[in-house]
Amino acid sequence: MSYDSNASEYRMLIGGQLVEGASTMPVVNPATGEAFAICPRASVAQADAAIEAAKEAFGPWSVLSVSQRQAYLVKLADAVEKHQDDLARLLTQEQGKPLAEALWEVQGSAAYLRHFSTMDLPEKVIEESADRRVVQQRRPLGVVVAIVPWNFPVLLLNFKLPAALLAGNTMVVKPSPTTPLTTLRFGEICSEILPAGVVNIVADNNDLGAHLTAHPDVRKISFTGSTPTGSKIMASAAGSLKRITLELGGNDAAIVLGDVDPAQVAPALFGTAFMNCGQVCVAIKRLYVHDSIYDRMCDELAALANATQVGDGLEAGTQMGPLQNRAQFEKVKGMLDNARKCGTVVAGGEIPDRPGYFMRPTIVRDVTDGDLIVDEEQFGPILPVIRYTDPEDALRRANASPMGLGGSVWGNDHEQVMSLASRMDTGMVWVNKHLDIGPHIPFGGAKQSGIGVESNEEGLAEFTQLHIINAAP
Ligand code: NAD
Repeated sequence: MSYDSNASEYRMLIGGQLVEGASTMPVVNPATGEAFAICPRASVAQADAAIEAAKEAFGPWSVLSVSQRQAYLVKLADAVEKHQDDLARLLTQEQGKPLAEALWEVQGSAAYLRHFSTMDLPEKVIEESADRRVVQQRRPLGVVVAIVPWNFPVLLLNFKLPAALLAGNTMVVKPSPTTPLTTLRFGEICSEILPAGVVNIVADNNDLGAHLTAHPDVRKISFTGSTPTGSKIMASAAGSLKRITLELGGNDAAIVLGDVDPAQVAPALFGTAFMNCGQVCVAIKRLYVHDSIYDRMCDELAALANATQVGDGLEAGTQMGPLQNRAQFEKVKGMLDNARKCGTVVAGGEIPDRPGYFMRPTIVRDVTDGDLIVDEEQFGPILPVIRYTDPEDALRRANASPMGLGGSVWGNDHEQVMSLASRMDTGMVWVNKHLDIGPHIPFGGAKQSGIGVESNEEGLAEFTQLHIINAAP
């Protein structure tokens, strides 16, 4: 082993200090299945110290002008870009994604920081009359806890952090235990730029979330992760009526109409189903294809799957890495077994004979609603292709899911496509594409895919308390 298993070269960030954990835990590289680094692990007392530091920092941070806080975000973006190669390499090692995707994630994080550095929270005059002057302000909330999953550890943190800080809040950040390292490196960057206590980062082994989210000094929880954990957080927040934003699981349906050329659209469908080894909340997870092009579409997708180079994300030429962790690998293998029973695997389905959590991209056809692989979020490299004859029936089946994150409609009849898209029961719907996001576009789900949004003025507003001043003339 190339590391000292008793000490960590990584530090948490509490009150402006880079500190060791009360204990340590190994971090596994999913491409080898072996631990490659040691991570500090916080005690409950350290989590409390992080909240206390954020509480103390809130006063001075919240009274800075918006332009002063904007300037801090610009400095963070510059520093992330300066260190982007090292951050991306570390991200690939702990997360598994190909280096180019890791670099995209790190650069995207800088782009979110930069976007929010241009945003403002202006007062609005709602009424100015002989009777009254009513002004709407947006005030910061206080200490925000940000909890992040393992699929996009850096980007999803930066869906939250720039908006929370710009609005004048301070933060305690908790990464996922299987991908904490790039976040801790980001913490080192924060320690050089931000005033002490404005951002605090604690790592845990899936055991501090409940404590952080129930803490009476926390005013807001911004969570991205699974729907079951989202429910627990909502319950935990109820005691002190904390504000919550929950970005949860998805089971995005794409409906492909019969008037498209399968050869033309298959690469985009494939790319948005298998990005990050299928571990994307808004990946295509159920593909409804019209009967008239069903066989050709399955063949096109199978050819793309067979041509995909799967391997260690650090190796040149790798197009798809491993699943991120053993638990997810075992879960997706179980779904693969089930898919074999329900349908026909026309590409992939193999577990390569090598260490690490690899699975080849898998296309399964002749499955339908009611099958596990269709009804449940796979969060892995298996795409179920479902046959339909009536687009209205496909829409009904797409909308029958309790999830409602994203969806898409693909076709050449503009009117029909737009009619179907406008009736998709999701937070986001794309037309002739999927998974197109940006810091200026609201991001959020319907139904059990979440509560609230991130990005855009709408996302920024969720980190504020609306404050109305109603003055006599
Ligand atoms: P998860 O819910 O298991 O864990 C997410 C985070 O919550 C981790 O940091 C974990 O340590 C923490 N956590 C665990 N128990 C907790 C508790 N009781 N209280 C507070 N925090 C707790 O999710 P995951 O497996 O890491 O991520 C995969 C899931 O995330 C998928 O369902 C995926 O669709 C979803 N996701 C959603 C979005 C979105 O924006 N909607 C984005 C990415 C991932």
